[in-house]
Amino acid sequence: MEMTKLNDQQFMNHLQKEHQKLLDEKQVLLEVDDLKKYFRVGKGLDLKAVDGISFKIYKGETFGLVGESGCGKTTVGRTVLRIYDPTDGTVKFKGQDIKEIKNRKDVQEFKGNAQMIFQDPYSSLDPRMTIGDIIQEGLDVHFPKMTTEEKHARISHLLEIVGLNPEHGARFPHELSGGQRQRIGIARALALEPDFIVCDEPISALDVSIQAQIVNLLNYLQWEMGLTYLFISHDLSMVQHISDRIGVMYLGHLVELTDNKKLYNKPLHPYTQALISAIPVVDLDIEKKERIHLEGEVPSPINPPKGCPFAPRCRECMDICKSKKPQFKEVEEDHWVACHLY
Ligand code: SF4
Repeated sequence: MEMTKLNDQQFMNHLQKEHQKLLDEKQVLLEVDDLKKYFRVGKGLDLKAVDGISFKIYKGETFGLVGESGCGKTTVGRTVLRIYDPTDGTVKFKGQDIKEIKNRKDVQEFKGNAQMIFQDPYSSLDPRMTIGDIIQEGLDVHFPKMTTEEKHARISHLLEIVGLNPEHGARFPHELSGGQRQRIGIARALALEPDFIVCDEPISALDVSIQAQIVNLLNYLQWEMGLTYLFISHDLSMVQHISDRIGVMYLGHLVELTDNKKLYNKPLHPYTQALISAIPVVDLDIEKKERIHLEGEVPSPINPPKGCPFAPRCRECMDICKSKKPQFKEVEEDHWVACHLY
Protein backbone atom coordinates (compact mmCIF):
# COMPACT_ATOMS: atom_id res chain seq x y z
CA MET A 1 0.00 0.00 0.00
CA GLU A 2 1.37 3.41 -0.94
CA MET A 3 1.40 5.48 2.23
CA THR A 4 1.96 8.75 0.38
CA LYS A 5 -1.54 8.56 -1.06
CA LEU A 6 -3.20 8.01 2.30
CA ASN A 7 -4.47 10.78 4.54
CA ASP A 8 -3.80 10.60 8.29
CA GLN A 9 -7.05 8.85 9.13
CA GLN A 10 -6.61 6.26 6.37
CA PHE A 11 -3.04 5.67 7.52
CA MET A 12 -4.18 5.10 11.10
CA ASN A 13 -6.92 2.74 9.92
CA HIS A 14 -4.36 0.82 7.90
CA LEU A 15 -2.03 0.54 10.91
CA GLN A 16 -4.89 -0.57 13.13
CA LYS A 17 -5.94 -3.25 10.64
CA GLU A 18 -2.40 -4.59 10.36
CA HIS A 19 -2.13 -4.60 14.13
CA GLN A 20 -5.35 -6.58 14.46
CA LYS A 21 -3.81 -9.28 12.26
CA LEU A 22 -0.91 -9.54 14.72
CA LEU A 23 -3.34 -9.82 17.65
CA ASP A 24 -5.31 -12.55 15.87
CA GLU A 25 -2.17 -14.69 15.65
CA LYS A 26 -2.10 -14.95 19.49
CA GLN A 27 1.62 -15.57 19.75
CA VAL A 28 2.67 -15.79 23.40
CA LEU A 29 5.38 -13.23 24.18
CA LEU A 30 5.46 -13.46 27.98
CA GLU A 31 4.34 -16.36 30.12
CA VAL A 32 4.18 -16.07 33.90
CA ASP A 33 3.62 -19.28 35.84
CA ASP A 34 2.88 -19.42 39.58
CA LEU A 35 5.07 -16.37 40.20
CA LYS A 36 5.84 -15.48 43.81
CA LYS A 37 7.83 -12.57 45.12
CA TYR A 38 8.29 -12.26 48.87
CA PHE A 39 10.31 -9.60 50.65
CA ARG A 40 11.92 -10.47 53.99
CA VAL A 41 10.80 -7.78 56.46
CA GLY A 42 11.87 -9.32 59.79
CA LYS A 43 12.95 -12.53 61.44
CA GLY A 44 10.77 -15.22 59.87
CA LEU A 45 8.46 -12.56 58.43
CA ASP A 46 7.81 -12.24 54.70
CA LEU A 47 5.80 -9.60 52.88
CA LYS A 48 4.02 -11.61 50.20
CA ALA A 49 3.86 -8.96 47.49
CA VAL A 50 3.05 -11.48 44.75
CA ASP A 51 1.74 -14.84 45.85
CA GLY A 52 1.40 -17.30 42.99
CA ILE A 53 0.05 -15.65 39.86
CA SER A 54 -0.09 -16.99 36.30
CA PHE A 55 -0.94 -15.26 33.03
CA LYS A 56 0.18 -14.91 29.41
CA ILE A 57 0.69 -11.82 27.30
CA TYR A 58 0.29 -12.12 23.55
CA LYS A 59 2.42 -10.29 21.00
CA GLY A 60 1.02 -6.88 20.12
CA GLU A 61 -1.55 -6.69 22.91
CA THR A 62 -1.92 -4.37 25.87
CA PHE A 63 -2.40 -6.39 29.01
CA GLY A 64 -3.78 -4.21 31.80
CA LEU A 65 -2.99 -5.05 35.41
CA VAL A 66 -5.23 -3.25 37.88
CA GLY A 67 -5.73 -3.18 41.60
CA GLU A 68 -5.48 -0.90 44.60
CA SER A 69 -2.15 0.49 45.66
CA GLY A 70 -0.04 -2.17 47.40
CA CYS A 71 -1.72 -5.14 45.64
CA GLY A 72 1.58 -6.24 44.04
CA LYS A 73 1.12 -5.03 40.46
CA THR A 74 4.35 -2.98 40.33
CA THR A 75 6.25 -5.91 41.84
CA VAL A 76 4.93 -8.09 39.00
CA GLY A 77 6.13 -5.50 36.46
CA ARG A 78 9.59 -5.35 38.02
CA THR A 79 9.92 -9.11 38.36
CA VAL A 80 9.06 -9.83 34.73
CA LEU A 81 11.82 -7.38 33.76
CA ARG A 82 14.33 -9.09 36.07
CA ILE A 83 14.68 -6.00 38.24
CA TYR A 84 13.62 -8.34 41.08
CA ASP A 85 14.44 -12.04 41.26
CA PRO A 86 11.33 -14.18 41.77
CA THR A 87 11.01 -16.09 45.05
CA ASP A 88 9.38 -18.93 43.11
CA GLY A 89 7.69 -19.63 39.79
CA THR A 90 8.83 -18.85 36.27
CA VAL A 91 8.73 -16.00 33.79
CA LYS A 92 9.29 -16.95 30.17
CA PHE A 93 10.02 -14.30 27.56
CA LYS A 94 9.80 -15.55 23.96
CA GLY A 95 9.77 -19.08 25.36
CA GLN A 96 12.94 -18.70 27.45
CA ASP A 97 12.98 -18.75 31.26
CA ILE A 98 14.48 -15.34 32.09
CA LYS A 99 16.29 -16.82 35.11
CA GLU A 100 18.32 -18.91 32.69
CA ILE A 101 19.54 -15.88 30.73
CA LYS A 102 23.07 -15.79 32.11
CA ASN A 103 25.78 -14.54 29.81
CA ARG A 104 26.35 -10.81 29.59
CA LYS A 105 25.41 -10.46 25.94
CA ASP A 106 22.09 -12.29 26.38
CA VAL A 107 21.23 -10.32 29.53
CA GLN A 108 21.89 -7.11 27.64
CA GLU A 109 19.77 -8.25 24.73
CA PHE A 110 16.89 -9.12 27.09
CA LYS A 111 17.16 -5.74 28.82
CA GLY A 112 17.02 -3.95 25.49
CA ASN A 113 14.04 -6.04 24.43
CA ALA A 114 12.04 -5.50 27.61
CA GLN A 115 11.83 -1.89 28.75
CA MET A 116 9.95 0.17 31.33
CA ILE A 117 8.17 3.53 31.36
CA PHE A 118 7.88 4.92 34.87
CA GLN A 119 5.09 6.69 36.70
CA ASP A 120 7.00 9.81 37.59
CA PRO A 121 8.83 11.03 34.51
CA TYR A 122 10.67 13.68 36.54
CA SER A 123 12.32 11.46 39.14
CA SER A 124 13.26 8.88 36.50
CA LEU A 125 15.26 11.42 34.45
CA ASP A 126 18.67 12.57 35.74
CA PRO A 127 18.28 16.36 36.26
CA ARG A 128 21.98 16.99 35.51
CA MET A 129 21.86 15.42 32.06
CA THR A 130 20.48 16.87 28.84
CA ILE A 131 17.62 15.00 27.20
CA GLY A 132 19.96 13.96 24.37
CA ASP A 133 22.47 12.49 26.84
CA ILE A 134 19.69 10.66 28.72
CA ILE A 135 18.55 8.93 25.54
CA GLN A 136 22.11 8.34 24.37
CA GLU A 137 23.05 6.51 27.59
CA GLY A 138 21.15 3.42 26.48
CA LEU A 139 22.48 3.63 22.93
CA ASP A 140 26.07 3.71 24.25
CA VAL A 141 25.53 0.48 26.17
CA HIS A 142 23.42 -1.44 23.69
CA PHE A 143 24.81 -0.24 20.35
CA PRO A 144 28.56 0.23 20.98
CA LYS A 145 29.34 0.12 17.25
CA MET A 146 27.06 3.04 16.41
CA THR A 147 28.96 6.20 15.46
CA THR A 148 28.29 9.49 17.26
CA GLU A 149 26.59 10.88 14.14
CA GLU A 150 24.34 7.83 13.93
CA LYS A 151 23.43 8.19 17.59
CA HIS A 152 22.57 11.88 17.16
CA ALA A 153 20.44 11.10 14.11
CA ARG A 154 18.65 8.37 16.05
CA ILE A 155 18.00 10.65 19.04
CA SER A 156 16.53 13.33 16.74
CA HIS A 157 14.35 10.71 15.06
CA LEU A 158 13.14 9.35 18.42
CA LEU A 159 12.26 12.86 19.63
CA GLU A 160 10.20 13.38 16.48
CA ILE A 161 8.46 10.01 16.85
CA VAL A 162 7.25 10.99 20.34
CA GLY A 163 6.05 14.39 19.10
CA LEU A 164 8.97 16.61 20.20
CA ASN A 165 11.62 18.52 18.23
CA PRO A 166 15.25 17.52 17.83
CA GLU A 167 16.06 20.81 19.65
CA HIS A 168 14.59 19.32 22.83
CA GLY A 169 17.70 17.12 22.98
CA ALA A 170 19.77 20.08 24.24
CA ARG A 171 17.40 20.87 27.11
CA PHE A 172 17.34 19.63 30.71
CA PRO A 173 14.38 17.76 32.29
CA HIS A 174 13.34 20.75 34.45
CA GLU A 175 12.85 22.85 31.29
CA LEU A 176 10.09 20.53 30.07
CA SER A 177 6.45 20.07 31.08
CA GLY A 178 5.20 16.85 32.70
CA GLY A 179 3.75 15.57 29.42
CA GLN A 180 6.99 16.35 27.55
CA ARG A 181 9.02 14.55 30.22
CA GLN A 182 6.84 11.46 29.84
CA ARG A 183 7.43 11.63 26.08
CA ILE A 184 11.18 11.58 26.87
CA GLY A 185 10.63 8.53 29.07
CA ILE A 186 8.93 6.85 26.10
CA ALA A 187 11.70 7.91 23.67
CA ARG A 188 14.31 6.51 26.06
CA ALA A 189 12.48 3.18 26.20
CA LEU A 190 12.08 3.07 22.40
CA ALA A 191 15.78 3.84 21.81
CA LEU A 192 16.67 0.21 22.48
CA GLU A 193 14.08 -1.10 19.99
CA PRO A 194 12.12 -3.16 22.51
CA ASP A 195 9.33 -5.63 21.77
CA PHE A 196 7.85 -5.36 25.24
CA ILE A 197 7.31 -2.35 27.52
CA VAL A 198 6.06 -2.33 31.10
CA CYS A 199 4.15 0.94 31.52
CA ASP A 200 3.95 1.48 35.28
CA GLU A 201 1.20 4.06 35.94
CA PRO A 202 2.61 6.10 33.04
CA ILE A 203 -0.07 8.78 33.07
CA SER A 204 -1.29 9.01 36.65
CA ALA A 205 1.10 11.88 37.48
CA LEU A 206 -0.09 13.92 34.46
CA ASP A 207 -2.92 16.43 34.00
CA VAL A 208 -6.11 14.89 32.63
CA SER A 209 -5.76 16.91 29.41
CA ILE A 210 -2.28 15.44 28.81
CA GLN A 211 -3.22 11.86 29.75
CA ALA A 212 -5.23 11.32 26.55
CA GLN A 213 -2.32 12.57 24.41
CA ILE A 214 0.09 10.08 26.00
CA VAL A 215 -2.40 7.22 25.66
CA ASN A 216 -2.89 8.10 21.99
CA LEU A 217 0.87 8.18 21.49
CA LEU A 218 1.28 4.77 23.15
CA ASN A 219 -1.48 3.37 20.91
CA TYR A 220 0.08 4.80 17.77
CA LEU A 221 3.54 3.45 18.66
CA GLN A 222 2.05 0.04 19.35
CA TRP A 223 0.37 -0.13 15.95
CA GLU A 224 3.39 1.26 14.13
CA MET A 225 6.03 -0.91 15.85
CA GLY A 226 4.07 -3.98 16.93
CA LEU A 227 4.84 -3.27 20.59
CA THR A 228 3.42 -5.29 23.46
CA TYR A 229 2.54 -3.51 26.72
CA LEU A 230 1.98 -4.53 30.29
CA PHE A 231 -0.03 -1.50 31.44
CA ILE A 232 -0.13 -1.15 35.22
CA SER A 233 -2.67 1.17 36.82
CA HIS A 234 -4.94 1.63 39.82
CA ASP A 235 -7.41 3.43 37.54
CA LEU A 236 -9.84 0.91 36.12
CA SER A 237 -11.50 3.32 33.70
CA MET A 238 -8.10 4.18 32.18
CA VAL A 239 -7.16 0.51 31.89
CA GLN A 240 -10.50 -0.16 30.21
CA HIS A 241 -9.70 2.49 27.66
CA ILE A 242 -6.31 1.13 26.64
CA SER A 243 -6.21 -2.64 27.32
CA ASP A 244 -7.12 -5.68 25.23
CA ARG A 245 -7.19 -8.01 28.22
CA ILE A 246 -7.18 -7.16 31.89
CA GLY A 247 -6.01 -8.92 35.05
CA VAL A 248 -7.38 -7.76 38.40
CA MET A 249 -5.04 -8.13 41.38
CA TYR A 250 -5.86 -8.22 45.06
CA LEU A 251 -3.36 -8.78 47.86
CA GLY A 252 -0.72 -10.41 45.66
CA HIS A 253 -3.21 -12.63 43.78
CA LEU A 254 -4.85 -12.45 40.39
CA VAL A 255 -8.56 -12.70 41.12
CA GLU A 256 -9.96 -12.27 37.60
CA LEU A 257 -8.62 -12.18 34.04
CA THR A 258 -10.49 -11.76 30.80
CA ASP A 259 -10.88 -9.46 27.83
CA ASN A 260 -11.79 -5.83 28.18
CA LYS A 261 -15.46 -6.20 27.23
CA LYS A 262 -16.26 -9.24 29.35
CA LEU A 263 -14.65 -7.71 32.40
CA TYR A 264 -16.81 -4.61 32.22
CA ASN A 265 -20.03 -6.21 31.02
CA LYS A 266 -19.93 -9.31 33.14
CA PRO A 267 -17.46 -9.10 36.02
CA LEU A 268 -17.57 -12.33 38.03
CA HIS A 269 -15.38 -11.75 41.07
CA PRO A 270 -17.02 -9.75 43.88
CA TYR A 271 -13.93 -7.51 44.11
CA THR A 272 -14.05 -6.68 40.37
CA GLN A 273 -17.79 -6.06 40.67
CA ALA A 274 -17.14 -3.53 43.45
CA LEU A 275 -14.39 -1.77 41.48
CA ILE A 276 -16.53 -1.52 38.36
CA SER A 277 -19.55 -0.28 40.28
CA ALA A 278 -17.42 2.66 41.44
CA ILE A 279 -16.61 3.88 37.90
CA PRO A 280 -18.71 6.97 37.11
CA VAL A 281 -21.10 6.44 34.18
CA VAL A 282 -21.06 9.35 31.76
CA ASP A 283 -23.60 8.01 29.26
CA LEU A 284 -27.07 8.90 30.56
CA ASP A 285 -28.63 6.05 28.57
CA ILE A 286 -26.73 3.50 30.59
CA GLU A 287 -28.52 2.51 33.73
CA LYS A 288 -26.18 2.94 36.68
CA LYS A 289 -25.86 -0.26 38.59
CA GLU A 290 -25.89 -0.26 42.37
CA ARG A 291 -22.63 1.05 43.83
CA ILE A 292 -20.96 -1.64 45.93
CA HIS A 293 -19.08 -0.13 48.85
CA LEU A 294 -16.00 -2.02 49.94
CA GLU A 295 -15.94 -2.28 53.71
CA GLY A 296 -12.77 -2.53 55.75
CA GLU A 297 -9.12 -2.33 54.84
CA VAL A 298 -6.93 -4.51 52.64
CA PRO A 299 -5.34 -7.10 55.01
CA SER A 300 -1.58 -7.02 55.56
CA PRO A 301 0.45 -8.96 52.97
CA ILE A 302 2.70 -9.99 55.88
CA ASN A 303 -0.15 -11.87 57.51
CA PRO A 304 -2.72 -12.52 54.76
CA PRO A 305 -6.02 -14.37 55.47
CA LYS A 306 -5.84 -18.16 55.43
CA GLY A 307 -8.56 -18.78 52.83
CA CYS A 308 -9.69 -16.35 50.15
CA PRO A 309 -7.65 -13.13 50.42
CA PHE A 310 -10.81 -11.09 49.79
CA ALA A 311 -12.94 -12.91 52.39
CA PRO A 312 -12.76 -10.25 55.16
CA ARG A 313 -14.33 -7.67 52.79
CA CYS A 314 -16.57 -9.84 50.63
CA ARG A 315 -20.33 -9.53 50.95
CA GLU A 316 -20.77 -13.00 49.40
CA CYS A 317 -18.36 -14.70 51.82
CA MET A 318 -19.24 -18.31 52.72
CA ASP A 319 -17.75 -20.64 55.35
CA ILE A 320 -15.46 -22.34 52.85
CA CYS A 321 -13.97 -18.96 51.85
CA LYS A 322 -12.44 -18.50 55.30
CA SER A 323 -10.47 -21.73 55.25
CA LYS A 324 -9.80 -22.64 51.61
CA LYS A 325 -8.07 -20.49 49.03
CA PRO A 326 -10.07 -20.56 45.75
CA GLN A 327 -8.23 -21.79 42.67
CA PHE A 328 -7.71 -19.48 39.73
CA LYS A 329 -9.59 -21.29 36.98
CA GLU A 330 -11.16 -20.77 33.57
CA VAL A 331 -14.91 -20.71 34.22
CA GLU A 332 -15.89 -19.60 30.72
CA GLU A 333 -13.83 -19.38 27.56
CA ASP A 334 -10.97 -16.94 28.20
CA HIS A 335 -12.52 -15.86 31.49
CA TRP A 336 -10.54 -16.79 34.60
CA VAL A 337 -11.60 -16.19 38.16
CA ALA A 338 -10.53 -17.19 41.68
CA CYS A 339 -13.74 -17.47 43.68
CA HIS A 340 -15.68 -20.31 45.34
CA LEU A 341 -18.90 -18.99 43.79
CA TYR A 342 -17.86 -20.46 40.42
FE1 SF4 B 1 -16.01 -13.81 48.18
FE2 SF4 B 1 -15.70 -16.35 48.79
FE3 SF4 B 1 -15.47 -15.55 46.28
FE4 SF4 B 1 -13.61 -14.95 48.07
S1 SF4 B 1 -14.13 -16.97 47.37
S2 SF4 B 1 -14.48 -13.60 46.58
S3 SF4 B 1 -14.84 -14.62 49.87
S4 SF4 B 1 -17.30 -15.47 47.54
